[in-house]
Amino acid sequence: MRDETCIFCKIANGEIPSATVYEDPDFRVILDLGPASEGHALILPKNHFKDVCDLDEETAAKVLPLAAKIGAAMKKSLGCAGFNLVQNNGKEAGQTVFHFHVHVIPRYEGGPSIAAWECQPANADKLAQIAEQIKSALS
Ligand code: AMP
Ligand code: ZN
Repeated sequence: MRDETCIFCKIANGEIPSATVYEDPDFRVILDLGPASEGHALILPKNHFKDVCDLDEETAAKVLPLAAKIGAAMKKSLGCAGFNLVQNNGKEAGQTVFHFHVHVIPRYEGGPSIAAWECQPANADKLAQIAEQIKSALS
């Protein structure tokens, strides 16, 4: 379950040093080298999964409770007012490292803004059509 060419496999398994804030048998949580805000962390599974679609159920079940735990610790220790969980899948979605990871980004009052999408007006017929397209792929 390791990819010898993957930098996050090496970091998660301690072969490359990192600013680690948490470790257990399944995960390592490190500080991002290019933080969006102070304390920006990355949750890395120790096994290699390229994205959320590749993740096994056991790891998937553990990752959200861990993200909540890290975010709560950030609020307590760093004084952030809140935090974002961000998880990119695919190059077009902004994924640059193809080992599943969750960003935990502290948000401070008056802190740096983080790009958000611009809301587009929606058409009810178009929404219904898109909903049908997605539903048909789920069945
Ligand atoms: P993503 O764009 O979602 O794939 O996120 C990759 C993140 O990994 C970026 O925020 C990078 O700043 C961060 N990153 C890349 N290499 C390292 C590294 N060696 N140590 C810590 N963070 C890294
Ligand atoms: Zn990997």
